[in-house]
Amino acid sequence: MKIVIDWVRCEGNGACVVAAPELFDIDNEDMLIVLDETPSEDKRAALERAVASCPRRAIVIEG
Ligand code: SF4
Repeated sequence: MKIVIDWVRCEGNGACVVAAPELFDIDNEDMLIVLDETPSEDKRAALERAVASCPRRAIVIEG
């Protein structure tokens, strides 16, 4: 599966980092960092938590 971020919608609030710290981080300028853009299937539950946590609906799972 692949993580696709809508960079226009993302506001760097870090909710996804709290939900899935193994997949997301925030840099010191409040920019989202995707740590693994093509995570293995065992990360799906964490990724779905991050999608649900995003108030901007900026995270899309492909595949
Ligand atoms: S929760 Fe959504 S808006 Fe916030 S940093 Fe993550 S992708 Fe961006």
